[in-house]
Amino acid sequence: MKIAVLKEAGGVETRVAATPETVKKLMGLGASVAVEAGAGFGARISDADYAAAGATVAARADVIAGADMVLGVQGPQLADLPNIVPGTIVAAIQSPFNDRAKIEAYAGAGLIAYAMEFMPRTTRAQSMDVLSSQSNLAGYKAVIDAGETYGRAFAMMMTAAGTISAARVFIMGVGVAGLQAIATARRLGGVVSATDVRAATKEQIESLGAKAIFVEKVAGISGEGAGGYATEMSDEYKAAQAELVSAHIAKQDIVITTALIPGRPAPRLVTDAQVASMRPGSVIVDLAVDSGGNVEGAVAGEIVERYGVKIIGHSNPASRMAPDASALYSRNLFNMISAFWDKEAKAAVWPADDDIVKGIKLTEGGKVVHERLQG
Ligand code: NAD
Repeated sequence: MKIAVLKEAGGVETRVAATPETVKKLMGLGASVAVEAGAGFGARISDADYAAAGATVAARADVIAGADMVLGVQGPQLADLPNIVPGTIVAAIQSPFNDRAKIEAYAGAGLIAYAMEFMPRTTRAQSMDVLSSQSNLAGYKAVIDAGETYGRAFAMMMTAAGTISAARVFIMGVGVAGLQAIATARRLGGVVSATDVRAATKEQIESLGAKAIFVEKVAGISGEGAGGYATEMSDEYKAAQAELVSAHIAKQDIVITTALIPGRPAPRLVTDAQVASMRPGSVIVDLAVDSGGNVEGAVAGEIVERYGVKIIGHSNPASRMAPDASALYSRNLFNMISAFWDKEAKAAVWPADDDIVKGIKLTEGGKVVHERLQG
């Protein structure tokens, strides 16, 4: 089985889908691995490192030629499709809701596209869960980015020259990214509070030593819905949340928003008026900016200033830690391939009725087959 690893298009995408470590592991299974020249530069991996691990390093067309599986972060581009044999598996973070045309093109080219972000949130698939591995780093980096822009200390310091007060940090959305943001801000010495619509997160927030800010009078999501994800909330809930949050936000130095609803635009959590209520010099990081944003006025790829408050909207936040993000993403891919590896066939075998295969397979036989993409 030949596995191809592509160089990404660049821009804000600096990650890569294999590292020398996973190249060695894939070869250990019995696969051959071809890596496009320059693929690892953004993640600080040289072509020589891949070659030393046993990969063939070559030009894009040669890497793709004859591959049984193509690994990418964002997946091959449309210009590559004529060179990829129908039936080839293409595994990447496919963003099917944002880039439907690409998925249709993959189907048209006869490819089997796997969306790694559709990996079921099950115990068996935990080591293949790219949303977790990438969101965790994004949550960490959001705190570091906020601290950098804030330009003041997180921790309270009592010095001979007087006291410096601790930064007040509010995390909105307590999934994987939010939990890591709470932990990181606490480690730096911030006074941390957090909110979510899912009741289960209250205990998680408190166990990390942060204060839970919750809407009490209207029901949120008490049990966890399908896959543990949030859904769109009622208008009554949104109004109660806005009122509660308004009073709290005005007292914060740093707000980090991470709220997402799968397959829908990100919920609006911070209005322009709430931004205006914050002290000048405060900082907001909108981690949901690529999905439409939680914060009014946030712009993808920019840091904008409103009323003296900086709103950070970095696109593709995991790419801001490309070496670590690539190491974890590559291991997610390896763990998936190894789970389906058939020693005798010396190839991965993907049973159509397996819950992981069903969960991630977007296209097959010329069609878009995933149930979430029907209609
Ligand atoms: P996500 O990225 O989809 O969303 C981030 C957070 O935003 C979530 O906690 C969500 O509840 C919250 N949110 C949505 N709308 C909101 C609103 N209006 N106001 C405030 N907060 C809002 O979440 P995620 O990190 O992908 O986690 C989703 C679920 O998956 C969680 O239940 C998590 O525990 C679970 N999970 C399971 C596994 C596993 O079992 N393998 C691994 C990781 C995560």
